[in-house]
Amino acid sequence: MLELAQINSFYGKAHVLRALSLQVSRGQVVALLGRNGAGKTTTLKSIMQLVVPRSGRVRFNGADITGWPAHRVARAGLGYVPEERRIFTDLTVLENLEVGRQKPRQDAAIWSRDALFELFPNLAERRHNRGRDLSGGEQQMLSIARTLMGNPSCVLLDEPSEGIAPVIIEDMARAIVQLRDQGLTVLLSEQNLHFARAVASRAVVLDRGTTRFSGSFADLDASPEIRDAWLSV
Ligand code: ATP
Repeated sequence: MLELAQINSFYGKAHVLRALSLQVSRGQVVALLGRNGAGKTTTLKSIMQLVVPRSGRVRFNGADITGWPAHRVARAGLGYVPEERRIFTDLTVLENLEVGRQKPRQDAAIWSRDALFELFPNLAERRHNRGRDLSGGEQQMLSIARTLMGNPSCVLLDEPSEGIAPVIIEDMARAIVQLRDQGLTVLLSEQNLHFARAVASRAVVLDRGTTRFSGSFADLDASPEIRDAWLSV
């Protein structure tokens, strides 16, 4: 469903992604792991074309989306939840969700506010609260819920567990597993190996902008040298 083939991405002269290839099949949850600065965020931005790869191709649902404007990528069904939560702090939870609403598409589930409140019960309780009054974890959930209102068929989540309280991390993991069970394709970047293992079926380990490992968590566990070399565990 999503394929990166030999991507090279730069910030000015800094060569950040190096011949990076990866694939995500429909309905899979894949965790992108790696130390700080390994290139996880840049990989997600290169998929959204917020950073346009200088060479290599990005394919989504059979289309070559390399070089497309980011809004067109989003309209094709790719949802993106950046690390810095994108919510309107002056608007209520309900209003934030309305802002995210997009036309339904044929190839993806159609989300309603009620369905999202079932997915994130914490948000249901807070529906009339303004964004700024939510906890970090609730803001993260709202950011994901807003993206789902766009009815994506695949979502990219940048460190969904970052900076949120342990009890909320469990709620977040449960929600992502539910999304997977509903058939959504998810690529998420993570530093928290425990969280990644709870939600994802496959791990891709990045180091210095290239893929060092791709496989199951069982295979990752069987390769302590990979964990020691490229993950901070
Ligand atoms: P983190 O968990 O810290 O976000 P990451 O794996 O997501 O790490 P990236 O944010 O993709 O890594 O960064 C990869 C490299 O690109 C790092 O060396 C970083 O310093 C550099 N980099 C990131 N953003 C920019 C930018 N806007 N301009 C220049 N260099 C950047």
